[in-house]
Amino acid sequence: MADANNSRAPLYIRIHAADNVAIVANDGGLKAGATFSDGLVLVDNVPQGHKVALADLAEGEAIRRYDVVIGYALKALPRGSWVHERVMRMPAAPELDGLPIATVKPPALPPLEGYTFEGYRNADGSVGSRNILAITQTVQCVAGVTDFAVQRIKAELLPKYPNVDDVVALAHSYGCGVAIDAPDAIVPIRTLRNISLNPNFGGEVMVVSLGCEKLQPERLLPPGSIPIVDKRGEVEGGAELDVVCLQDDEHVGFMSMIDSVMRQAETHLVRLNARRRETVPASELVVGVQCGGSDAFSGVTANPAVGFCTDLLVRAGATVMFSETTEVRDGIDQLTSRASTPEVAEAMIREMAWYDAYLQKGRVDRSANTTPGNKKGGLSNIVEKAMGSIVKSGSAPITGVLSPGEKATQKGLIYAATPASDFICGTLQLAAGINLHVFTTGRGTPYGLAEVPVIKVATRSDLARRWHDLMDVNAGRIADGEASIEDVGWELFKLMLDVASGRKKTWAEHWKLHNALVLFNPAPVT
Ligand code: CA
Repeated sequence: MADANNSRAPLYIRIHAADNVAIVANDGGLKAGATFSDGLVLVDNVPQGHKVALADLAEGEAIRRYDVVIGYALKALPRGSWVHERVMRMPAAPELDGLPIATVKPPALPPLEGYTFEGYRNADGSVGSRNILAITQTVQCVAGVTDFAVQRIKAELLPKYPNVDDVVALAHSYGCGVAIDAPDAIVPIRTLRNISLNPNFGGEVMVVSLGCEKLQPERLLPPGSIPIVDKRGEVEGGAELDVVCLQDDEHVGFMSMIDSVMRQAETHLVRLNARRRETVPASELVVGVQCGGSDAFSGVTANPAVGFCTDLLVRAGATVMFSETTEVRDGIDQLTSRASTPEVAEAMIREMAWYDAYLQKGRVDRSANTTPGNKKGGLSNIVEKAMGSIVKSGSAPITGVLSPGEKATQKGLIYAATPASDFICGTLQLAAGINLHVFTTGRGTPYGLAEVPVIKVATRSDLARRWHDLMDVNAGRIADGEASIEDVGWELFKLMLDVASGRKKTWAEHWKLHNALVLFNPAPVT
C-alpha cells in the first residue's frame, strides 16, 4: 500500500442521484476489497475512471449514468462489481421522430459585461486573435511548391514585418481527382473557402493554383466572396482574387514560381503589418469547443468546466460552437428541447438524419466512434461518451445550426455539425470562423493548429502532471476536490481573454505543434 497513487481514501464520483453506477476517481484505480466511506466494498479490481455497481444489478437491468440509460446488464452484477463494456449491451440510438421541440425554456442567463480582449479588427467587422498571412491552395498538387515558398517567406520576408505573427500554407488533399459536381462536394469546397476567410487572416486572401485542376480559383472563391469595405464599414464590392498560377506561360523554371508567390505574399505582408491590436468586447470571441482522447473523467471534470465557460461566453455575447455529431447523437432529445426555435430543432434533426444516412452508407452506425483508448479510460460505449461530451454545450438555448463547412454569422450557442474526428472537427470549426479553439482530453493528445490558438484542458491531474508542458488547464483538480467546476470554468474564460489578446501563448503555440487541415469530403473521388 506504499503506492502514492492509492494514498488517498477510496473515492467514487456519481453524477446523478438516480445513477446505479459511479466511476472510481483514484489514480491507478482500486483493488478488490477497497471500502468506500459509505460502506461500498469493491468485489473486483476497478481501473481509474471505470464504473462500479452501486447496487445489485439483475441481468437485463438498465445501467444509468448521467441519469441516462447507457446500457443493459448482460448478467447479474452484484453491488461493488466492475461494470465495463463486455458486461453491458448498448441501447439503440434515439429515434429522430417525435422528439421534444424547443420545449425547455432555460432561464435567461444574466448578461456578463465589462470583459474585453485585444484583437485585430477586420474590415468585415470580425476580430482576429492572431495576425497571420494564410496562403490558400486550390489543389494538393501545389502543396510542395507553396511550402517551399513559405519557408523562404518566413526566413527572408517575415523578419521585416514584425507585426505579422506567422505565414501559413493552407495545404489539403482536395482539388482534383474528385467528383466536383456531386451534391456533397459543396462541403469540402465551402470549407476551404471559409477557412481562407477566417478572421485570423485579416481578409488578405491569396491563392496558389496549378491551372488544370477541377477546383478552379473562381469556383473556390467566386467574385464577391472577399468583401471590400469602405471607410464607413459598408461593403462596396468584392476584391479581385490574387492568384499565382503555376502553369502560366510567364513561369520559366521553378524559381520563377517561387519569386511570384513571394512577391505577392509581400504585398499582403505590408498591409497585415500595418494592423494593430485594439480593445474589443469579449463578445467578439468565436470559440469552438471539442474533445478528443476522452475518458470517463471528460464528462465529470473538463467538459462540465468548459460547459460553465460556454455559458459565460454566451452571457458575454460571444459565439460558441459545439460539434461532433456522433458524440451528441444519443443526446439529441436534450438538444432539440433546448433549441431556441422549432426551426433550430428541425435543423439539428436534419443534420443528425444526414449523418445517420452517411454512416449507414458505410454500413456502420454511431458506435463506430469509440476508440480503444476511450474504453481503457472507462467509457464503455458511445452513449456514455456522448453524455459526457454534450455537457461542453453548457445550459444556454441553442440559437443556430451550421452544416459542415458553413460560416457562423450569428452570436450565441451554435451547433456546428461536424464529424467527431479531432482534425476534421477542428478544420470545420476553422471554416465556421473560430478565433479560439478549446480542446479537452483525458487520454492526452498534443493537438494544435497553425491557424488559431488551441487551449488544451486535461481531465485528470495525472495527465496534467505528466504532460505539464502540453496541457494549458488542469480540470483534474475538480475530481481531486481542489477546485470547483465554476473555478475551472472562470480560469478558462480568463485564459481565453489572455490568449486571444496574444498576452499568453498556449503550449501548442509555444512548441509550434500544428496538425494538418483535414477536409471532410463525403462526395466520391474519381
Ligand atoms: Ca473530437
